[in-house]
Amino acid sequence: MRIGHGYDVHRFSSGGKLVLGGVCIPHSRGLAAHSDGDAVSHALCDALLGAAALGDLGTHFPDNDPAFKGMNSLCLLKQVAALLRERGFAIVNADVTILAETPKLAPHVAAMREALANILNMETQAISVKATTTEGLDAIGRGEGIAAHAVALLQELR
Ligand code: MG
Repeated sequence: MRIGHGYDVHRFSSGGKLVLGGVCIPHSRGLAAHSDGDAVSHALCDALLGAAALGDLGTHFPDNDPAFKGMNSLCLLKQVAALLRERGFAIVNADVTILAETPKLAPHVAAMREALANILNMETQAISVKATTTEGLDAIGRGEGIAAHAVALLQELR
């Protein structure tokens, strides 16, 4: 078994779509990024890559590469999962904590779990997503952006 941790944060942009865990969430602002700004998928990718000691998201998908501009981050997650399979790793489970002051994310947690599990070809039960505020503290608390932590467990198959 191998464990990995991932962290990502994106600041809000002036408009655009808010996508978290592959789910489009109604909000006045999206997250600024080269890709779709899906901090949940990015943190999860980094946790998976970290568990396998295969570097990080930026190594595999450079943010100055036009190929990844505006990219659906679920596609990145799918490619990370394929890389792990190639290297003989199976994902056991993952747990994500989102830090956001707004919008309220609880109504979207089930859809995020489903979208992430679906793209990883896993049972929804194996993917946990939680959301919390920072009680108005720090940049997240001032509503300047959204952050996500993820941990993932891998099993070496050979
Ligand atoms: Mg990111």
